[in-house]
Amino acid sequence: MTFFRYSADRLPYALFASYFALDVALFFTVDNLWAPPIIFVIGFFPKAFICAFNHHHQHLPTFYQPVLNRLAEIMFGFQTGIGPYAWYLHHSRGHHEHYLDQTKDESAWMRKDGSTMGEFEYTINVAATAYWRAYKRGDDLPKKQAAFVAMNSLMLALVVGAFVYNWYNALFMVLLPMVASLLITVWVTYYHHRGLDTGDHFSGSYNITTPLFNTLTGNLGYHTAHHYRPGVHWSKLPELHEKIKDKIPAHCYRDGAVLGGLVARRRAKKERERRRKERRRNPGVAAPVGARSDDSERLAA
Ligand SMILES: [Zn+2]
Repeated sequence: MTFFRYSADRLPYALFASYFALDVALFFTVDNLWAPPIIFVIGFFPKAFICAFNHHHQHLPTFYQPVLNRLAEIMFGFQTGIGPYAWYLHHSRGHHEHYLDQTKDESAWMRKDGSTMGEFEYTINVAATAYWRAYKRGDDLPKKQAAFVAMNSLMLALVVGAFVYNWYNALFMVLLPMVASLLITVWVTYYHHRGLDTGDHFSGSYNITTPLFNTLTGNLGYHTAHHYRPGVHWSKLPELHEKIKDKIPAHCYRDGAVLGGLVARRRAKKERERRRKERRRNPGVAAPVGARSDDSERLAA
């Protein structure tokens, strides 16, 4: 019997399942005050990357067997705070269908007045409304909406059960990791599209082609290719990127953003502050034609 649609999923899923089994074992065995907060903090990094694979799974279910897909979604729900069908409704059927129209996008980065949200504002806005928007996207997909409600009710019951069993371990090893992973995931998506106001798939996403980043995220850096053909398995995205890369404009790459981008963003922020102070000192001096407040950040990205 074949379980995996693509053999590339075997190793990542073996790691995710092992990590989940370890988390479950720790939940039931840890019995002191200091270990749960440490386990919570250590989990930030691996769980952020697991989230990328939860995303991939919601575009193209990993297993042939539906029951295995649902079990994987419960595991991912605990690891990433994004429960069964939430990615599917909010992202695959929401964001992917709407991202070129900021008035509809479930992960909109543009404010109603047309300006660009800051990353904090975006993160809080999208994370706080995520489950509601996922539910609303299901209004014209009633079967998926019902599955979303049923499966996430089960998730909620399991979380409540964990609190009843051991509220301290549940707080640091179940609930807070879920909330933190959801926030980190939403924050990361800010850099996928923000500022790219276009009607064209090829210039609507930022790409990162760094091998390490793509190994850890399952090629999520090939983001234009992913939006161009969202149903393509993550292992095939580099191939697809090669076919379409001539159509992707240079400003849609954020290579070096993983580490260098942090430095570049700090520099850009300082430069913006310097310009702001300069304008305050010389209010009569107009900004250069075409200059926008986020130009330096755009260049850094
Ligand atoms: Zn996607």
